[in-house]
Amino acid sequence: MSLNPYTGCSFKCLYCYATAYIGLRDSSPKKQFIARLARDLRRYDKRIPINIGTSSDPYPPEEAYYGLTRAALKLLVAENRKVLVTTKGTLYAKRDLDLMVKGHVAITPTITTLDPSISLYVEPGAPTPVSRLNALRTATRAGVPAGVRVDPIIPYLNDDPYMIEDLIGSIAEAGAVFVVTSTYKARPDSLKRLVSAFGGLGERIRKLYSEQGVKVNGYIYLRKSLREKLLGPVIDAARRAGMEYAVCREGLTGKLWFNAGSCDGTHLIPGPGDRRDEGLRRWLHS
Ligand code: SF4
Repeated sequence: MSLNPYTGCSFKCLYCYATAYIGLRDSSPKKQFIARLARDLRRYDKRIPINIGTSSDPYPPEEAYYGLTRAALKLLVAENRKVLVTTKGTLYAKRDLDLMVKGHVAITPTITTLDPSISLYVEPGAPTPVSRLNALRTATRAGVPAGVRVDPIIPYLNDDPYMIEDLIGSIAEAGAVFVVTSTYKARPDSLKRLVSAFGGLGERIRKLYSEQGVKVNGYIYLRKSLREKLLGPVIDAARRAGMEYAVCREGLTGKLWFNAGSCDGTHLIPGPGDRRDEGLRRWLHS
């Protein structure tokens, strides 16, 4: 089950696929969200995980005011639901760890690069990579299981293997145990944004997708050998760091690309028997 407390997204990532459906606009809270969630949960099997933040980030700046994500977490934790939170925000680490450590909650923040200037161009409204790393570290030290989405890898922008090695090393040091990655799949609107933001480099990206891309379900994929070349460094670095790894929506299978319990990180959600008392104790007394 996907759960998105907001529509639109103030982080305004150039590569966002959701804008093809809802346009490029700020996050706005869904009406009657908590009442509707409470009603829907009555019909929903408790064994199935709930993924928060699949098409709109659950921790945009607006969340500090509306508190919809916190209210949803409160309800889900009280009902012992399994929850996976995906975000580029950092507010969760300052405000919601009390709920996360009590419940069956795991997180998969997205960090696409450590380079603040690339991030500023590509994810203009989102917190800096270093603040995302710090939030991740705070959460894992409190005992929240975490993976990271290194997603998407965009040719010429964040595909440098040395930068990827540093990124994975930092993610591992911050306590994440799993990495999922995928290449950028172009849609007309997101490709247009990338091309106009990056000038000559953007033009090279456009050429790569328009001349060598393959149409799959409304997206343009790069050819398989190029996708393997882009994702290989992420997977190799994760393997060297002793992390679990997966690729997502790439059609690449086998141990070379996937050694985790799930591709989205739901396998990280702690079950009823998992004990994280030490992390909770450390966090409550820090
Ligand atoms: S954080 Fe996610 S939903 Fe928001 S703009 Fe970026 S890719 Fe889209």
